[in-house]
Amino acid sequence: MQFYLATSFIFPRSLRLRLFAVCFVATHLPLLCYIGWGAATGRLALAEVVTLTLATVAGTGLALYGIGALLTPIHALADTLNAQPGDSAPLPRVGDVIQNLYAGVQRAAVLTRAQIDDLAVAAHEDPLTGVANRRGFLAGIEALPAGQRKGCVALIDIDFFKQVNDLMGHDEGDRVLAAFADRLASQVRRADLVARWGGEEFAIFFCNSVEEEASWALARIAEQVRREPIGRVNGRIISFSAGLSRWSGGPVEEALAAADGALYDAKQAGRDRVCRAGASLSATCP
Ligand code: GH3
Ligand code: MG
Ligand code: MG
Repeated sequence: MQFYLATSFIFPRSLRLRLFAVCFVATHLPLLCYIGWGAATGRLALAEVVTLTLATVAGTGLALYGIGALLTPIHALADTLNAQPGDSAPLPRVGDVIQNLYAGVQRAAVLTRAQIDDLAVAAHEDPLTGVANRRGFLAGIEALPAGQRKGCVALIDIDFFKQVNDLMGHDEGDRVLAAFADRLASQVRRADLVARWGGEEFAIFFCNSVEEEASWALARIAEQVRREPIGRVNGRIISFSAGLSRWSGGPVEEALAAADGALYDAKQAGRDRVCRAGASLSATCP
């Protein structure tokens, strides 16, 4: 690339002519040496000089033709790389195939990076609800800075959700799931994390919250769901049960397992309630 840049002052808009100039000088070097030697020694023969000059010009032409033929596929590649997605015709060439090729490779690299980013987002997002999926939730927890690695985790499960599917169809079930995720996401703070844990289960990380605060936040969401129902099935307002556990920065799986146990308690106690992990059932599960 350094030689390429260093020679760019010769025919800056034409690589072909630049190659010709380099080939011309290189192939005529022996001839120039011969002329210099002949002039110095007085043994210059005109017929030999003419023959050698014609031969080197022919050699230069041959070299240029060969290089031009070898560059043809690179021109084609540069045009392809420079073509915008959706363009019916490639962009007009700016005159320098190497610059075109370099710009094309850079563009391809940017596109590839964008596609990799899209794939990374897709891998961490639930397509139905738009909130994080389980992998995204755990990655979000993993990425938390030290000062935010504590709070509460909740596992939330929609009550009798199977009836929504059975009585109103899977499309309505999907709508309820998406609306429920929206409701959760809109009711938590920016620092909290909401995810679809799987099926009709969701998870929330309440950042830097003590259990009272997280429990109160869940009760507020439950109240809101009662006031403005997401849907009804058999005349009953769709509700949810939740299990809550404290997380103090250790393995989050332990806190999630404790929250899952508390969720089981909430279901056992009659659903539509929030239970906390830890203390006795009667004290933590109304
Ligand atoms: P419980 O109160 O004990 O939680 O009862 P439930 O009916 O909510 O729980 P159950 O585990 O029996 O049923 C969950 C249902 O959720 C079963 C499954 O078909 C449905 N489901 C899981 N994922 C999806 C989905 O993406 N879309 C729809 N429409 N339904 C789903
Ligand atoms: Mg479930
Ligand atoms: Mg359920």
